[in-house]
Amino acid sequence: MKSMVVYGPKDIRLIEEPMPEPKDDDVITEVKFVGVCGTDKSVYEGTIGYLKTGLMKYPIRLGHEWSGIVCRVGKNVTKFKPGDRVCGDNVVTCGKCENCKSGNYAFCENLRALGSVYTWPGAYTQYMCMPEKHMYKLPDSVKLEYGALIEPAATGLYTAVNGRIKPGCTVVVHGTGLIGLVAAQCAKHLGASTVIVTGRKREKLEVARQLGADYTFSWIEEDVTAAILKVTNNKGADSVLESTGAAQVLCASLEQVKSSGTISVIGSYDTLVDGFDADMMVFKNITLTGLNGCPHMFQPMLNMMAAGQIHMEPMVTDIFPLEQAKEALEKMDQGEKRIKILLEV
Ligand SMILES: [Zn+2]
Ligand SMILES: [Zn+2]
Repeated sequence: MKSMVVYGPKDIRLIEEPMPEPKDDDVITEVKFVGVCGTDKSVYEGTIGYLKTGLMKYPIRLGHEWSGIVCRVGKNVTKFKPGDRVCGDNVVTCGKCENCKSGNYAFCENLRALGSVYTWPGAYTQYMCMPEKHMYKLPDSVKLEYGALIEPAATGLYTAVNGRIKPGCTVVVHGTGLIGLVAAQCAKHLGASTVIVTGRKREKLEVARQLGADYTFSWIEEDVTAAILKVTNNKGADSVLESTGAAQVLCASLEQVKSSGTISVIGSYDTLVDGFDADMMVFKNITLTGLNGCPHMFQPMLNMMAAGQIHMEPMVTDIFPLEQAKEALEKMDQGEKRIKILLEV
């Protein structure tokens, strides 16, 4: 089978690998679509910190956002059969450690992440091998393209859930990537009456509007904090969902959130955050909450997609063949409108 494997910074190659053999609990899936993610890019460019700490080592087969069709199953597998349309987790866990047993499997002591730390070979390939417990059936109405994006979409849902959104409240979502655009839709479904989305590119803010945002503000064109305070009568928002990973956006969130409000952070900063006013956080009684992964959110997100509550159509802006993964990785941050690139296998 053909796979795209990273051998070193900016060195990704199309190689021939043996087909995986399923163990008793494994499902082999013929991969159809894989999302190209910022994490993939930082592995491809060699900038991700895990390469320095030794938690990741080249060669690495990328790809943790994926969908496909089951083609073989191990003898203990009961939930899947060849022909099923599926998507899979972005991690493989042991199921035996204390964290797994308590349901906190994102912190499995023996965790292997697809194309990331303690690398489980990722989905930039034709055939994926995954344990049954990490697979999900796609509802009939969910296209394979969107099934591949369940992981970032579920992360958007988790960001909103962590933001403690209450009926009738006002929510600010920072970021117009897929996670932010799904989080904004989830905020509405969780009861927010006003959703404000901020970003840099006008075209992507326009997509946020189409998806139901009540206000959109551009960091390039205006004073975003002043604009948020204006539409909230100087009170600030009840919840701020921060998906940009920009330190100054996190700092500004403190001014934009109401007293006793919540800031839910999914962005990754790759640096210490300078200028964070911890006293303001204390005096305003703000809850700052981080999250890692999206445990237990895949099935709820699939249900929301199947029910037509989450719209993914405007988010897939480009589809490249797997063999052009290099081009996709190099182009992902370019262009005014680009939100998500998929690789088609
Ligand atoms: Zn990702
Ligand atoms: Zn475990």
